[in-house]
Amino acid sequence: MKTVGILALQGDFDAHAKAIERAGAKSTLVRSAAGLDGLDGLIIPGGESTTMLKLLREENLLEPLRGFGGAHPVLGTCAGAILVATEVSNPTQESLGLVDIGIERNAYGRQVDSRIASVTPEAEFQSRTSPGDMETVFIRAPIIRRVGAGARVLAQYRGDPVLVEQGRHLVATFHPELSADPRVHALFLQKLSE
Ligand code: GLN
Repeated sequence: MKTVGILALQGDFDAHAKAIERAGAKSTLVRSAAGLDGLDGLIIPGGESTTMLKLLREENLLEPLRGFGGAHPVLGTCAGAILVATEVSNPTQESLGLVDIGIERNAYGRQVDSRIASVTPEAEFQSRTSPGDMETVFIRAPIIRRVGAGARVLAQYRGDPVLVEQGRHLVATFHPELSADPRVHALFLQKLSE
């Protein structure tokens, strides 16, 4: 059975652990570089990217995570998507640079801070998982403003990419771990075997 690490310095890592177990893999919480040993993939959860970045620096985890992502699949959701991006704005901050996207933090503004929306994923996503619309939970979400040539949009909400794949990595600006739809985690698990 594959083992997925969930970065557990801050944020909603527990919900991801449950989602991974529902999807049929083992999960383990990661709080140090040694915790990455033997993992097949890693999830960087939602939370507060500035706080996570501060903790990643304190734990000397930035370089180990870049190294891990150079060889294994990483799923970044919401704050995790911000951390794996190549380029962060509002304001500019350091990131892991694993997925070639430009992402703007807190981009939906205060009035529409958080919401649940139904999106129709791209046909490709539906054929690789299963058909149907997807419930997406946005919480002070970022917006992906630029998608690099090597990256592929798998779902959009109001014309902006919300689920993007680049090679072995996957990013979502919403929280797939907070809805009942298992497909984002299921797709991520497929990547562990590719
Ligand atoms: N607003 C947060 C940030 O900028 C992300 C919110 C979330 O992960 N739900 O890091």
